[in-house]
Amino acid sequence: AQKQTSKSDVRVFNDVMRESINRENRLKDGLSRALQMQQMYVTYQPVIDSQTGQVCFCEALLRWKLDGELIPPNEFIPIAEQNGFIHDIGSWVLQQACKVATKWTFDNTVNLSVNVSVSQLMHNNMLDVLEKTLKESGFPAEKLHIEITESIFVEDIQLAIQKIKALQKLKIKVSVDDFGTGFSSLSLLQSIAADVVKIDKNFIASMAEGGTAVIQATQHMAKELGYSVVAEGVETKAQADALISMGIQSLQGYYYSKPMRQEELENWHELYRQDASK
Ligand code: C2E
Ligand code: MG
Ligand code: MG
Ligand code: MG
Repeated sequence: AQKQTSKSDVRVFNDVMRESINRENRLKDGLSRALQMQQMYVTYQPVIDSQTGQVCFCEALLRWKLDGELIPPNEFIPIAEQNGFIHDIGSWVLQQACKVATKWTFDNTVNLSVNVSVSQLMHNNMLDVLEKTLKESGFPAEKLHIEITESIFVEDIQLAIQKIKALQKLKIKVSVDDFGTGFSSLSLLQSIAADVVKIDKNFIASMAEGGTAVIQATQHMAKELGYSVVAEGVETKAQADALISMGIQSLQGYYYSKPMRQEELENWHELYRQDASK
């Protein structure tokens, strides 16, 4: 039997809708001023080389604090994309991260990885922004990785491949982020010829229940195609050990460190180095 919708159900629904629309409007409004109000900052999460135990790169992850509340990127990035704010915000992240990474003194071999959303990558001036940022910061192109998600390949795969090639022509490396979650297939890795594949954290989380097929298959294919592999969302020693035994090259996750502000990163690295030398 179908449940009749009561008046109070409708009221609850309307309240929830109104609240979510209000919030979205508040965020949209806030985003238009977030940079100017200096509410944004970039954090960095280290990625560990599983062979050497050293930091091989750090991923820049954007943070936004609005009226004391940290708004998750998964909530505000889509709004910034819909409203075009992503271009200014994305350029700022790139500038900020390249500037900071140029000054990393703890290890001068560490690469920098920056997330770029679909509309950013598809925008005509993306290459200019990148070239200008690299030039102004002095950060070497070959140490910069651009992370894109597989949703980029849904609309126009040929155009997406062109964009990747253009980045690689500048010597920038391209990473496929969140691999395995969307419409990706292993053959996609072959057609796009990117440099790094990041296995989504969902697959790492389900390892304990015996779910390693996707990880193994990705690792195998990546090796064939000359990609390097990063496992995201490594939270335990057991996961790290299992991934290392599967031959996964790099590991990222709370087991090693959460994303940190620049000052914390330097301190964390000092402790991590001391730990490793014991
Ligand atoms: P992502 O690029 O896949 O980044 C990884 C996310 O996983 C980050 O969430 C990170 O904090 C989180 N994470 C790292 N280690 C662990 C772990 O061990 N366990 C768990 N459960 N999570 C872990 P965050 O910082 O909230 O970012 C979410 C997404 O927002 C990112 O996913 C990325 O797609 C997007 N994003 C973040 N910063 C930027 C940016 O500057 N530009 C663009 N376009 N997108 C960004
Ligand atoms: Mg990423
Ligand atoms: Mg990811
Ligand atoms: Mg993601």
